[in-house]
Amino acid sequence: MRVVVSGGSGFLGSHLCEALVRRGDSVRCLDNFSSGRSANIAHLLSAPGFDCTPCDVTVPFRASGDIDAVVHLASPASPSDYARLPLETLAAGSRGTENLLRLALRHRARFVLASTSEVYGDPAVHPQDEDYWGNVNPIGPRSVYDEAKRFAEALSMAYRRSRGADVGIVRIFNTYGPRMRAHDGRVVSTLIRQALGGEPLTLFGDGGQTRSFCYVDDMVRGLVAMIDAREPGPFNLGNPGERTVRELAELVLLITGSDSGLRFLPLPVDDPVRRRPVITRAREGLGWHPRVPLEEGLRHTVDWFLSQPDTLVRPQEQSAVGRPS
Ligand code: NAD
Repeated sequence: MRVVVSGGSGFLGSHLCEALVRRGDSVRCLDNFSSGRSANIAHLLSAPGFDCTPCDVTVPFRASGDIDAVVHLASPASPSDYARLPLETLAAGSRGTENLLRLALRHRARFVLASTSEVYGDPAVHPQDEDYWGNVNPIGPRSVYDEAKRFAEALSMAYRRSRGADVGIVRIFNTYGPRMRAHDGRVVSTLIRQALGGEPLTLFGDGGQTRSFCYVDDMVRGLVAMIDAREPGPFNLGNPGERTVRELAELVLLITGSDSGLRFLPLPVDDPVRRRPVITRAREGLGWHPRVPLEEGLRHTVDWFLSQPDTLVRPQEQSAVGRPS
């Protein structure tokens, strides 16, 4: 297939590009590198069929040649990124989604939207299946991300209903693995960085809030299955194994052998209390389910961070010592 991947130099995008190249697809990555890293795709640049065009998908663009699928991953995605880039986040979900939908329609290509479990907000229903409409604060600090993704879903469905676009929506739950950024503010990368640096592991509230963590290889298999399907979804993609954040911290301490303690901080505004996907639809519609246990995925992730000590250093500190950020 000929696949366009927006956000292809980011954490998930780079793994997806790699998987598609591995199976023989030609892949065009579009990225503005606002949170992506060229190091994530450096090894792909010499691969046959891969190329990367630096661009902002919120600005209309045309692409030459045939395209079979467009996967829209481009968006600030971690809480610290969308707090830093609020208007850009709304633009990526709105104008960015429309530009990529138009591209897909022009080429009669499949369009896959990377939506999020954040469309469920702080869920009043547990666990969450795709029929739940969510509990989102439309004006809170997280709303730029949550509402951008909800709008992106609405826009995608409108293009499907009114223009016949071949649209597929996946709602991605917390995913972790190699190539996360140590300072992206996400819970897994933060806890690993703190444990490896000998700092106390920070937990919000009493650490009793739950999340469901999916290893990146599992998530990429789900994304590829959605590219190949004709189903519109939405499908939850995530690991239904629910853990408290405190349990996660204790597991990170065990795996890293760190003797860091725990430090408790006030809960952030609108932080969801519980998260667990129901994945029956993805099992039936895509034949997909996650396979990698949390302990195993965390070991791979810790090993990756250990092999990349530069990534543990804060970007300002890196430039201060003359390293590229
Ligand atoms: P990431 O920040 O690593 O990747 C996002 C990529 O998009 C980056 O490479 C960034 O430079 C690029 N980008 C942002 N705005 C852009 C723009 N206007 N034009 C071109 N490129 C742009 O984040 P990620 O974790 O890889 O997330 C990828 C997608 O998956 C996002 O859409 C995110 O909302 C979704 N998602 C991820 C998770 C997760 O746990 N990782 C969970 C739910 C949803």
